[in-house]
Amino acid sequence: MVRIKKGAYGARLGREMAIWCMMSVCKDALEEAGFDYEISSGIEGEHMAGSLHYIGNACDWAVRGHIHTEEGDSLAVRCSDFLGQDFDVIWNQEKKVLHSEWQPKTSFGKLG
Ligand SMILES: [Zn+2]
Repeated sequence: MVRIKKGAYGARLGREMAIWCMMSVCKDALEEAGFDYEISSGIEGEHMAGSLHYIGNACDWAVRGHIHTEEGDSLAVRCSDFLGQDFDVIWNQEKKVLHSEWQPKTSFGKLG
């Protein structure tokens, strides 16, 4: 699985490289855990105002079938560990969706 070296900030990757890392890590984590999944939302769909979905920096992965909250949370933690501080990966048990986003938090390359 792709891992971003600690201290090599996601913000210092070009946007396409950062998004590629995020997609690769989430895909691999879902497959390694044996879940059936599909990408359920990119820039379309209903999201919070200001959501990174609307600028193409977020992606949702819907898991099919039964999944425990702990398994979803564990997936999110595993992805976050590989990606580092400039990405957020959050499990939503109600929707059975893994939300992933690239949100540079360091000054270099910071959004806005
Ligand atoms: Zn989302």
